[in-house]
Amino acid sequence: MSVRTRFAPSPTGYLHVGGARTALFNYLFARKHGGSFVLRVEDTDQARNTEEAREAIFSGMNWLGLDWDEGEGMGGDFGPYNQSERKANYDRWFEVLREKDRVYEDDGAWRFRFERKPVTMNDLVCGEVTIDYRDESNTPDMVIRRSDGSYVFHFVNVVDDLDMKISHVIRGEDHLMNTPKHLQLFEALGAPAPQYAHIPLILNPNGSKMSKRDEGAAVGDYPRQGFIAPAVVNFIALLGWSPKSDDEIFTMDELIERFSLEAVNRAPGRFDPEKCAWLNQQHLLKLSPEAFAAAARPYVEAAGLPVDGAYPEVAAKVQEKVRLLGEVPEAIGFLLSDNFEFDPAAVEKVHGNPAAKDLLAALADDFEKLGDWSADAAKHQIGDTAKGAGAKPGQLMFPTRVALSGKAGGPDLGDILGLLGRDRCVARLRAFAK
Ligand code: GLU
Repeated sequence: MSVRTRFAPSPTGYLHVGGARTALFNYLFARKHGGSFVLRVEDTDQARNTEEAREAIFSGMNWLGLDWDEGEGMGGDFGPYNQSERKANYDRWFEVLREKDRVYEDDGAWRFRFERKPVTMNDLVCGEVTIDYRDESNTPDMVIRRSDGSYVFHFVNVVDDLDMKISHVIRGEDHLMNTPKHLQLFEALGAPAPQYAHIPLILNPNGSKMSKRDEGAAVGDYPRQGFIAPAVVNFIALLGWSPKSDDEIFTMDELIERFSLEAVNRAPGRFDPEKCAWLNQQHLLKLSPEAFAAAARPYVEAAGLPVDGAYPEVAAKVQEKVRLLGEVPEAIGFLLSDNFEFDPAAVEKVHGNPAAKDLLAALADDFEKLGDWSADAAKHQIGDTAKGAGAKPGQLMFPTRVALSGKAGGPDLGDILGLLGRDRCVARLRAFAK
């Protein structure tokens, strides 16, 4: 039987990390086994659905690179893929239950008659879970059709998995206890149930259960801050799945190759924003300098900095220095524009040496006198100027960096000298030495 998985979000909010992880695991499993990945929108709750939420789900999945084979925009043999358009299917299967006398009316609603026996599921992650339906007081027959004719989640979820020939249901642990109910429904409908894999909760760094409102929960916030999709995919994969090795940095293709449900953890995943930023840095380092500059460009433009001419070369100088693309404008602003801020702590540190201003003024004079200007020649000159004044080269390096960049850290000083050129270096040294 071919592998068919699905992501079945309810469009009631933005795509959050937990949902994205469910989608990712279904995607990885389908791709690994050469199967199909279905996107089904569970939009039966008219009051809570929004178009915005639908769009956020699609765009979030597109950004992460979780392309689906069937569903919105893709068609497929088992549509429609919105539950709101599938009423006829639900009515048809409801009739089957009625003919089999597995439902009865109760105050206008319809209840499903559970079989009074223990039901055991063999979850691919959680193992055996049994619910004993012999105790009716704990497991009253459930309503599957409301008095207004609408169907409840359990019923539509099962009918769709059946009609869409889903082979593996990978979903959050919050659905674990629903599954015996779903198994009862499959049996009553006369169909084999899919295999289930319930994936663990995600916890906040402080150990509380992560909710949709917690920081870092909305996938849509990640690009804005300068995370790149391969890093976020990598991060989300590690929230509940462990490679059986010390490796931590994976591309999507590597994840597809290595993913298995056996390696999904039973213990909750812990959300660690620092880890996410670190992974982002690792993935940024894998980019070519050109690709890095291109990825950072929108952030630099949005900061109002000019991105013509030297920009790609300038951006490449901080590829190893930033964790998020959102940090790039601040890191290179002084190289693209003369209008940059000075870090007061760095400035104060320079002024801690009363001789610094004179040294900087002397350096400006010496720069002007340099025959051929090059990064190397300029760097040498810093040493010579310092020695000429009886100081150590190090005593002039730091003040020069601060005068040219406004910062205590950043790209290599030689790179700064080379990129700024003689005139701008001299002007900045003089302005600072005033
Ligand atoms: N719409 C359900 C949810 O978002 C889907 C549950 C499932 O995957 O079966 O929780």
